[in-house]
Amino acid sequence: MIGYTCKYTPIELLYALGETTELLNHEVPDFEYAEKWTHPNLCCHAKAFLQHSSELDELVLVNCCDSIRRAYDVLVAQQVHRFLFLFDLPHIDKGCAQEKIKKELFRLTRLYTEHHPVSFDRQRFLEACRASSEVAFKASFESASGTHSKLDPATPFIAIIGARVSQELLSTIKEEVPYLVIDATCGGNRYLSPLAPGAERMSFEDLMDWYAKELLHFIPCMRMANIEPRKALWENENLCGIIYNTVKFCDYYSFDYARVKREVRLPILKIESDFTPQSEGQLSTRLEAFQENLHLSLEKPLKIKARQASQPAFFGGIDSGSTTTKMVIIDRNSKILASSIVSTGAKTQVSARKVLQETCRQLGVEPCDLASVFSTGYGRNNIAFATDSKTEITCHAKGAFFLDPTIRTIVDIGGQDSKIIRIDNEGRVVNFVMNDKCAAGTGRFLEMMARTLELDIDIMVRTGLAWKNDLTISSMCTVFAESEVVSLIADNCSIADIVHGLNKSIASRITSMISRTGCQAPYMMTGGVARNTGVVRELEVKLGERLIVSEKPELCGALGAALSALELSALGSKEI
Ligand code: SF4
Ligand code: SF4
Repeated sequence: MIGYTCKYTPIELLYALGETTELLNHEVPDFEYAEKWTHPNLCCHAKAFLQHSSELDELVLVNCCDSIRRAYDVLVAQQVHRFLFLFDLPHIDKGCAQEKIKKELFRLTRLYTEHHPVSFDRQRFLEACRASSEVAFKASFESASGTHSKLDPATPFIAIIGARVSQELLSTIKEEVPYLVIDATCGGNRYLSPLAPGAERMSFEDLMDWYAKELLHFIPCMRMANIEPRKALWENENLCGIIYNTVKFCDYYSFDYARVKREVRLPILKIESDFTPQSEGQLSTRLEAFQENLHLSLEKPLKIKARQASQPAFFGGIDSGSTTTKMVIIDRNSKILASSIVSTGAKTQVSARKVLQETCRQLGVEPCDLASVFSTGYGRNNIAFATDSKTEITCHAKGAFFLDPTIRTIVDIGGQDSKIIRIDNEGRVVNFVMNDKCAAGTGRFLEMMARTLELDIDIMVRTGLAWKNDLTISSMCTVFAESEVVSLIADNCSIADIVHGLNKSIASRITSMISRTGCQAPYMMTGGVARNTGVVRELEVKLGERLIVSEKPELCGALGAALSALELSALGSKEI
């Protein structure tokens, strides 16, 4: 068995030399072994590959980038592999490139047969080429003539592009996205044209000539000088959305995303993977929001049943957040009738029931009087009595647009994440950026700093408004910011000035997220941190724009969920 990592690897030739192949594209629990041999900032795929490299004693690599060349150097130094080959892939797909690849195919065949008692098996080669021409999704590019053939399939599909996705991430995406998913990254969508007529009788040289041309016809990756043929993918009328993957510490693909975003007018979800098991909850939220966007762009008919006059007129929305659980009840005219907030505590389901009972009590109704209840927030999928759930992205957009239809950007800073959501003049989400990976720029950051300053969070907010000296806390990372705060306390800086510095730090973090969505005013701030006047002011200074803050900004997501329930109520009855 020979391990490989790149779609340009001549796996049909390796099969003809008597070997099966395995794509080494799996996640690893950690990079302990790889980081003993390399710099920690090597791209995470290359490190994951090094972690796996000892599982097979024969490897064929492609000289893709510095990371892979570095990994190859490590393997050469280790001297543990029986066969190790670095395939020299040209950067161009025209002129002498085909000849160059052919020479590499010859070199590989020669070296492999020198090391093993085998010879090229024509029948196995033709068999493997036939199999590679019968894959479900075909993308054959006639690069030499500058044209390409039509793409299959004839059904809506999602393409994953960008840097390679791990097998595990690919499976998660396929499970969660209800469309055909095409992996057009480094390990996927490998397709050869049907065999040339008379291939059975061709000389080895002619076969390799044809094969070299085929290898150059894949959807080009960023290593190739001419990436124009990629356009055929996004011009395909059945493509309904793109998932753009970047790999941590990969320089190649981090620059490409902006270009794709400019060229493509379809929903795009950008994810960053690091070849370790992803936080499923966070990825699920992003994928769900992406799907909701897809549904809008595909204008799928919504399942709305005509509401009867006899039906209950109350619709509930529950936002189950990390710190608090919120509920809003509206009537069939979208009028807000009741709302409440409880602490989330350890059990989402318990706090959801509590907030439901409390809000119903305010309104003087029983939970069973509600036509439907939609949930949102991190705990949305754990609320068994909810009729349906929606992502926070959709709900905050809906709630904010309802409160003020002029707004175009929503800044939501919650307990453990922050989101910037851009909406259009009909309230539809056109773009969003989310930070759910670290505490920087979230309510959690402020909570931890309040603890360091030994202040109650409300007192901290008030204290910060009385600042005099403009201090800068340069770190947005909670751990480093905490050290800076401790140093400032030791330097006798006033608490008010330190709090002001922290507010500026959050504002910097959020402003950089806002800039990634295009800075479109008017802005509305939602979430619990919108009550923090100090943070709001600093954000306004940085943006040069006023932030609209509603009377109860933390209820915006729950309001959006209630509005979704009103719009989409299918009146499913669930036991509460
Ligand atoms: S970037 Fe290109 S050469 Fe590198 S692994 Fe991916 S497909 Fe292969
Ligand atoms: S993910 Fe980027 S840096 Fe890593 S091997 Fe692929 S192209 Fe190279």
